[in-house]
Amino acid sequence: MWLGWTRFDRDVEEISMTLNANIPPGPLADKWDRRRAELKSVKASDRDQYRILVVGTGLAGASAAATLAEQGFSVDVFCYHDSARRAHSIAAQGGINAAKNYPKDGDSVERLFTDTIKGGDFRAREANVYRLAQVSNAIIDQCVAQGVPFAREYDGYLANRSFGGVKVRRTFYARGQTGQQLLLGAY
Ligand SMILES: Cc1cc2nc3c(=O)[nH]c(=O)nc-3n(C[C@H](O)[C@H](O)[C@H](O)COP(=O)(O)OP(=O)(O)OC[C@H]3O[C@@H](n4cnc5c(N)ncnc54)[C@H](O)[C@@H]3O)c2cc1C
Repeated sequence: MWLGWTRFDRDVEEISMTLNANIPPGPLADKWDRRRAELKSVKASDRDQYRILVVGTGLAGASAAATLAEQGFSVDVFCYHDSARRAHSIAAQGGINAAKNYPKDGDSVERLFTDTIKGGDFRAREANVYRLAQVSNAIIDQCVAQGVPFAREYDGYLANRSFGGVKVRRTFYARGQTGQQLLLGAY
């Protein structure tokens, strides 16, 4: 879009919009659970009648597409890279956080929430960060089910390390290639 002086006012008017995250009302810990309970469920036998378009094959799009397809929906996924596995997510190296508290160092959903809010310089949307913390353990289970080779201890349990300056060990990782391995799993 060209923003010349003569057209400036009109263009600014055209591109201005309200940013609305559509976060559900209610107490922080219940918002997304309540929204989920309000949604109509789709019978397993009817799912292939819905065609879902996912734009982007980073960890957000690819994992959403893989999960929806696994549940029986008909899914098309689009990206503008030469390969679906070239999304920027491939650069994420350190690992993925979840409040499973395997090392028994007092981790919890609340603690993961607080650390993530602080880590985001208090600029992230609290309700969505809380949801991320709530579902973090299920995300690790899903990744394992998709074949992501997370590091393990010698006894077979998934390994955790402390990452990003936090005081607990909650980061699940695949050497220095976590993002790449997560993308491969979803792919
Ligand atoms: C160097 C680095 C290290 C990181 N390390 C970690 C880490 O250790 N742990 C962690 O949790 N997070 C880490 N992050 C952050 C994390 O990687 C990102 O937040 C996450 O991967 C973003 O995923 P995404 O799916 O939202 O976006 P992306 O991976 O960027 O995917 C976006 C997708 O959208 C597609 N797309 C974009 N525009 C269009 C369009 N117009 N039409 C069609 N397709 C389009 C792209 O092709 C791509 O497929 C790191 C980030 C970087 C850069």
